[in-house]
Amino acid sequence: MDLSVNIPPLDLVRQYTTIEAEVSDAVLKVLASGGYIGGPVVKDFEQQFANYTGVAECVACNSGTDALFLALKALEVGAGDEVITSPFTFFATTEVITAVGATPVFVDIDAATFNLDVEKLTAAITHKTKAIMPVHLFGQPVDMTAVMKIAQASNLYVIEDCAQSTGAMWEGQKVGSIGHIGCFSFYPTKNLGACGDGGAMTTNDAVIAAKIRMLREHGSRTRYIHEEIGVNSRLDAIQAAILQIKLRYLDHWNEQRQAIAQRYHEFLAHIPTVAIPQELTRGVGVWNQYTIRLAKNDSNYRDRVRQMLQERGVSSMVYYPLALHLQPVYENLGYQPGSLPVSEQASREVLSLPMFPEMTIEQQDKVVYTLKDCLS
Ligand SMILES: *Cc1c(COP(=O)(O)O)cnc(C)c1O
Repeated sequence: MDLSVNIPPLDLVRQYTTIEAEVSDAVLKVLASGGYIGGPVVKDFEQQFANYTGVAECVACNSGTDALFLALKALEVGAGDEVITSPFTFFATTEVITAVGATPVFVDIDAATFNLDVEKLTAAITHKTKAIMPVHLFGQPVDMTAVMKIAQASNLYVIEDCAQSTGAMWEGQKVGSIGHIGCFSFYPTKNLGACGDGGAMTTNDAVIAAKIRMLREHGSRTRYIHEEIGVNSRLDAIQAAILQIKLRYLDHWNEQRQAIAQRYHEFLAHIPTVAIPQELTRGVGVWNQYTIRLAKNDSNYRDRVRQMLQERGVSSMVYYPLALHLQPVYENLGYQPGSLPVSEQASREVLSLPMFPEMTIEQQDKVVYTLKDCLS
């Protein structure tokens, strides 16, 4: 093992080199075509992504954030409404809830999976609740059977945040095909990443799909006739062409992530201060992140280990260091430290190790060896 090489958290260049010829060919074709926004390349990608996800409709847009925003808009979630979601996610999930004028209501996570604790959902429902927004964090699916049952009982919409989980399954169904709308991000570091920003919504409801298409195009169904205030949120043809190619490799890349996760499990399972991530047996995860917990009676333990790893050439990340209910912007919501203790503890203990499909066994060996060395 060469301990002098640095291990990055992910390596987009290495992935690009494996598909360089196909991608450059497709990009040059789009450039020569003169059709840069929308058009057949985007439509074809939407169809392919709908087929992949197992839904009737896919509407592509500019980012995962826009996908979540447009989903809320399409379901007419707004002022006076509450949306139940996780405090342990990327800020975009709740930013859009606030942006449409609604209020995020945070439910604590399950310590084992980092996902919404479905046991706590029902207690958070009020007469103002309009939707539940489960986040399939780090690539692991939420227990969607439980979420859908609770949502149906109270007549709530379900918007799945699938940004980190493209290809993940719950009980044989792809995430994004179970709730009313699935929202995806094609940010470069996601499992299906473009070479720029991109996003999409999936749904089986043709009326919702038509409404989202109208909203993403300035509230217009017929050119220059505007029936609502919408946005400009379209996927570029170049990105769609690249995504069409990458979609063909996605299952293979996800399998490589699963193999890497298995190796991490085996190597890290029996270290007293390390808790490895747990999977629900009814789901298939796609490991956007491999996130361990480092716990000792010492609040800086995780950060010290991270620093030591960095000094020895192993990059790691902290997703996420401050739970959303404690963010400065949400002070007005009235949560206090201790309000959602499982999420708060996770934010002190989590560490995401390098994880990308092209990671070699050598690279992974160095990560494990160095981590064990830092912990001893
Ligand atoms: C990345 C991400 C988003 C936002 O996606 P963008 O394409 O970056 O706008 C939303 N939610 C989660 C959980 C994410 O990881």
